[in-house]
Amino acid sequence: MKYNKIIKKVNNELVAFGNLGNVASYIPELSAVNTSKFGVHLTTIANQHASFGDADEKFSIQSISKVISLTLAYKIEGENLWDRVGVEPSGTPFNSLVQLEHDLGIPRNPLINAGALVICDILITHLSSPKEDFIAFIRQVSGIPTIDYCNRIAESEKSVGYKNAALINLMKSFGNIKNDIDVVLDFYFNLCSIEMTCKELSQTFLFLANYGVCPFSKEIIISRSKSKRINAIMQLCGFYDEAGEFSFKVGLPGKSGVGGGIVAIHPNKYSIAVWSPKLNEKGNSYKGIKFLDLFTTETKFSIF
Ligand code: GLU
Repeated sequence: MKYNKIIKKVNNELVAFGNLGNVASYIPELSAVNTSKFGVHLTTIANQHASFGDADEKFSIQSISKVISLTLAYKIEGENLWDRVGVEPSGTPFNSLVQLEHDLGIPRNPLINAGALVICDILITHLSSPKEDFIAFIRQVSGIPTIDYCNRIAESEKSVGYKNAALINLMKSFGNIKNDIDVVLDFYFNLCSIEMTCKELSQTFLFLANYGVCPFSKEIIISRSKSKRINAIMQLCGFYDEAGEFSFKVGLPGKSGVGGGIVAIHPNKYSIAVWSPKLNEKGNSYKGIKFLDLFTTETKFSIF
């Protein structure tokens, strides 16, 4: 498949749709991003690459890191994990509080903020140096030793993190947070602050396109069965209350972040990352979703 040619063609078609939406201004540092940025990078499991635009520029991956924290927690806890967090699409915004009280402090899934906070709590219980151990894991998964947190973004989010503080307090009241709230929040904000380029992001997610095994190092990151389940969760819950729409239009498991990044994988084929900072009203990259919609239409490949 001539991915470079297809990406170029799709990008020409994309011009007709404009660059609509708004950046995630609720995190001060994210509102400073140049909204005309646009990058795409595709990596195949055979290590072929196709790239377009600002694919080598770092951006804040935000919630996309929730898939990697889920991977590590699932690896450590196994099926016990699902006593603390569900696997159902929430159908609500990423930072919504409404379901949590009804569900007695058990988040619907690990990819909404409440679920990711529980995953952070679990990791803190198990890891001796959570921040160091987590960044070491993400470097191992990606094979890229320079991936790091961005202190500036973590601090910026911490200064306005009222909704996340509300979520974690509510869960603590139900007994679903075991560690100190401030320690969990600090870990969570750091996770969200990780920066990557599209190229690095597509490389990081390749193990999920390859049944849990990094295709380059041949290292087993997670078992085949767990990799299947993580992909299923991305398919159902990766795009907040737009997960059905993404599935309908793109037909691949993926995850978005409010930094404007999206990563999607095609099992046994490739991992693709797109970055465009302006978000639609659901908090997903407007151009990123349009691009992937046109891309899978053009390639005629999806998991369905
Ligand atoms: N750090 C963001 C928050 O907690 C992540 C949101 C996202 O990317 O979905 O609000």
